[in-house]
Amino acid sequence: MTIRTRFAPSPTGYMHLGNLRSALYTYLFARHHGGAFILRIEDTDQARFVEGAVDVIYRTLRGIGMEWDEGPDVGGAFGPYVQSERKDMYLPYARQLVEAGKAYYCFCAKEDLEARRAEAEARGEVWKYDKHCKCLSHEEVAAKLAAGEPYVIRQDVPLSGEASFDDVIYGHIAVDCADLDDMILIKADGMPTYNFANVVDDHTMGITHVMRGNEYLASTPKYNLLYDAFEWERPVYIHMTQIMRDAQHKLSKRDGDAYYEDFIDKGYLSEAIVNYVALLGWNPGDEREFFTLAELCEAFGVEGMSKSPAIFDAQKLTWMNAEYIRRLAPETFTVHALPYYRSAGIGHMDTAVLAAILQQRTEIFSQIPGMVAFLAKAEEYPLSYFTNKKSKTNPDIALDVLKRVLPELEALQDWSIAGIHDLLIGLAQVWGMKNGTLLWPVRIALSGREVTPGGAVEIAYLLGRDEALARLRAGIAKLEVGE
Ligand code: GLU
Repeated sequence: MTIRTRFAPSPTGYMHLGNLRSALYTYLFARHHGGAFILRIEDTDQARFVEGAVDVIYRTLRGIGMEWDEGPDVGGAFGPYVQSERKDMYLPYARQLVEAGKAYYCFCAKEDLEARRAEAEARGEVWKYDKHCKCLSHEEVAAKLAAGEPYVIRQDVPLSGEASFDDVIYGHIAVDCADLDDMILIKADGMPTYNFANVVDDHTMGITHVMRGNEYLASTPKYNLLYDAFEWERPVYIHMTQIMRDAQHKLSKRDGDAYYEDFIDKGYLSEAIVNYVALLGWNPGDEREFFTLAELCEAFGVEGMSKSPAIFDAQKLTWMNAEYIRRLAPETFTVHALPYYRSAGIGHMDTAVLAAILQQRTEIFSQIPGMVAFLAKAEEYPLSYFTNKKSKTNPDIALDVLKRVLPELEALQDWSIAGIHDLLIGLAQVWGMKNGTLLWPVRIALSGREVTPGGAVEIAYLLGRDEALARLRAGIAKLEVGE
């Protein structure tokens, strides 16, 4: 049997990390087994339609490298792959169920339903549809249909007995039919509900393995009643745990960190996000932590999938991102960093030198503007920064050093990293002082910061001769005034 899996997102405009993980596991499962990965857009809820939302799905999956074998834009033998384009397919299936006595037309008006619900609740009962229209005769139904009365079609769930199925992760799931509602299959506007469409689509698209979030676990017994009513073979079900913010709460958009694109905007690398998300609820069974997508395809298996909810750990993701950033080629680092250089006002500076001083200390790209703001603009700083025990310096020593260094730098012809480095290190030697005693005050005067990416040499070089000399002069003036 060829395995066929599907990712079936509703186009909401965002890719939640939970959705991303569902897509990823589904994709990995298909690829691991040499099966097909199908993309289906579930847009039956037109009220929730969001412009451009399908593009977000395409962009995210493609950006990560998860190509689909069949889908709305690439076609396939089981199309169309957008539910709203399949809308005429569902009614005949629903009618088939009506004929088989497994579903029925319901003409109850909204107000009547609400009144009966209120009565039931007043009696302290949990409301479920009372099968009112199930009792209509064939003739009554035909007359109402002929008169054009609005209707829905409902599943006829047995009043007693059990509906159940076996899930690969969660095992045997059974519910009492008495607790199930006669759910709507076809809505008054003729569109199927998600509950009906997912069954018809999964069957007609030949889906062998349904992988999705465990919020569908409780509804799946009902879906299987439909499979049985149609006498269709049930797919294998693999329900996935939720991603949680902590033991009690699902990761939600309120946390500001639930969407894939938000992480990209914050300067996370897609490879790091994918690697991290893959390990949220799946364990490779060995100590490995770093995986490319191809390695994940190779290693993935349902045996490693967890039953307990995965807790999202932002720090761990950030750590992993930093590791990925460290491993980039410097040129690739620059490609990602350039927009941040530009926004920080240092887009004109030497990117090779910037990469050399920033790459090892960048955890997420959005930290860059804060780290380099001093390069674009001189910052205020206290004189106390000139005091450093290890470098054996204080404001008096710093003033002396800077006054001696300034003319040497003014005379320097070769304003390059090597030129500046050799001059400063040479001077420290000639003057018989520790390198630090010379470099510390220079770096403080150039940057106005105690902690900087790069040292005095790189900063002087990046600032350029004029700006560097101006800052040294300003440092001398500041030390002379003593504030
Ligand atoms: N459209 C559903 C969602 O986005 C998918 C459910 C399923 O995979 O069956 O939650």
